[in-house]
Amino acid sequence: MEPRVRALLDATADLFLGSSCPGCGRPGWGACGYCLAALARPTPLRLVGPAPGWPVVAACSYRPPVPALVKAWKDEGGWGLTRPFAEAVSLRVGLAGWCEPMLVVPVPSRSKAVAERGHDHARALARAVARRLGWSHEPLLRVGQSGSDQFDLGRTERWQNMAAAMRAQSGSGRVLLVDDVITTGASLTAATTALTRAGWTVSGAATVASSELRHAQSTPRQTPAG
Ligand SMILES: [Zn+2]
Repeated sequence: MEPRVRALLDATADLFLGSSCPGCGRPGWGACGYCLAALARPTPLRLVGPAPGWPVVAACSYRPPVPALVKAWKDEGGWGLTRPFAEAVSLRVGLAGWCEPMLVVPVPSRSKAVAERGHDHARALARAVARRLGWSHEPLLRVGQSGSDQFDLGRTERWQNMAAAMRAQSGSGRVLLVDDVITTGASLTAATTALTRAGWTVSGAATVASSELRHAQSTPRQTPAG
């Protein structure tokens, strides 16, 4: 879309609907070009979980405007962000060298949280990523009742909480996990452990964003396994 046409549409949307970019608040329809560009700043590969760890790639850092975009997507009905998020994640998967088809599996939220939001954002993201890659997707994981909200929990508590709660459907094949933001890596590690016990081979994980906590532990020279 031509910039002048986009600017006209943004101004019209702001005039009649009072809409603004969920990332920066600029008047306009949906996320602006500046905020969407922030999704395309890949972070280095890092390893998560007990040794030898699992490779995780992220499309961008969890820095402004990304936190506001993720919040809008998860909690404020900004479902239209699934598309640019999926595009950024699938591009990062390609950069990581994961070319062989894998089963794309979302890291789930608690069913109560999904019901409150009215939208299963993790499943929608995995489906959109799989579509772009031409791979299959399947929601193999469930978070049991013991999985209390990760919010406000410390690192150790997060790991214990998620490890006790994650359950996987049994089967076999290679899996790529997809999640929104990696923080401590607790959810991804719990998901990988549950899938491995159920017979699956987890080759790695791809997320929309990576928090500063993980940057401190990055291992940029590693290459993905599988
Ligand atoms: Zn913006």
